[in-house]
Amino acid sequence: MIRVRFAPSPTGNLHIGGARTALFNWLYARSKSGQFLLRIEDTDLSRSKKEYVEEILNSLKWLGFEWDEVCYQSQRFDIYREYAQKALKGGHAYIEKSESGREAIIFKVVPQKVKINDLIHGEIEFDTSVIKDQVLIKSDGTPTYNFSCVVDDALMKISHIIRGDDHISNTPKQILLYQALGFPLPEFAHLPLILAKEGGRMSKRKGATAITEYRSMGYLPKALVNFLMLLGWSPGDNREIIGIEEAIKLFDIRNVNKAAAVMDLDKLDWINNQYLKNEDPASLTEAVIPMLVEKKYIDKDKFDKDYILSLVKLFQPRLTVLNDFVDWADFFFLKDITIDPEAKQKYLARDLSKEFKLFIDRLDKLDKFDIVTIEAGFRELVKELNIEAKALIHPIRVVLTGKTIGPGLFEVIYYLGKERTQERLSKFIKKERT
Ligand code: GLU
Repeated sequence: MIRVRFAPSPTGNLHIGGARTALFNWLYARSKSGQFLLRIEDTDLSRSKKEYVEEILNSLKWLGFEWDEVCYQSQRFDIYREYAQKALKGGHAYIEKSESGREAIIFKVVPQKVKINDLIHGEIEFDTSVIKDQVLIKSDGTPTYNFSCVVDDALMKISHIIRGDDHISNTPKQILLYQALGFPLPEFAHLPLILAKEGGRMSKRKGATAITEYRSMGYLPKALVNFLMLLGWSPGDNREIIGIEEAIKLFDIRNVNKAAAVMDLDKLDWINNQYLKNEDPASLTEAVIPMLVEKKYIDKDKFDKDYILSLVKLFQPRLTVLNDFVDWADFFFLKDITIDPEAKQKYLARDLSKEFKLFIDRLDKLDKFDIVTIEAGFRELVKELNIEAKALIHPIRVVLTGKTIGPGLFEVIYYLGKERTQERLSKFIKKERT
């Protein structure tokens, strides 16, 4: 039975790198009908925080990586002490007394050549003569990472250890412990480093953002998962959009690249847009409603869902993140909109009061108020005025929406409604031109 684990330390939030490790473990388990375990490595009692545990679990759930079992290392200290005693009895470890009389248990590193056949990197050989003796149990009674990791991986019957490249240097130390404690060796697969697009390691500034932040920015979990998947793996044939079910079928840990992956946030935006475009507008509507309530754009108990659905459809093809909707469609909900000063300077510097007034009147004369009729009425007017359509389209859009970009003007007018359109235009004329 394939059993893998994700073993985060709750000393910080779940970031892209950790989420990618979790995904590859989860994918491997699912693709091989194996099990995916979660182990919270909270042995560092002062740095581990409950909030981080919560945050990590929530992020994993949000991404859809359900686990089959979970355990906490802080509840297993007795087990580590028991195995440290075994190492002592077997002559693999010794006790070191500190000046204050406290005892640590130290592992004797035997110089030898250790070889692993990493599933991603191939054969790696280590010379343990350069490794110092290793602490197993610190003088405060807590175990070290390498020790608790090996004891747990062995007792939890982990078959494949899939983790970041940054742990390669720990692997020979761990192998020596497996040997000393008489545990069978698992397989190892070390995932490539993730580099920032600008070069160098990821940092806060270069996209090493918590998963919860991507969530609140309005990325869809399936888009983020698709993006994470491509950090070191690809389904082949240059495909970039790949759903989770298909990935489960195609994924193999042996096909992961050894070269570093590059974290390209533009690609994440592109992927998210692809998913948003294809999402059911009704479910996007459900997702934006709480955002609109939070912004006080709508009243929690009293709103027109069909109206919001129409607006969602209007913006859906262009959205990069869900939050764009809230930012871009604000003018449909606000009573007083603010006009972007740059847009104003660009499109409203000239006095268009006369044209605006004529358009206001024209709206009253339409025999129907639908998108086609609004557009026909507008085209007629610019023809009569002998001006180009865009000479009026852009200025009217800026007055109605406060922005230069957005859906087609006639759709905007239709969904804003005749009264609000006329009101915004006349208010603008009054305020600006008298
Ligand atoms: N707690 C370790 C980490 O977060 C786990 C490493 C491992 O997977 O062995 O890096």
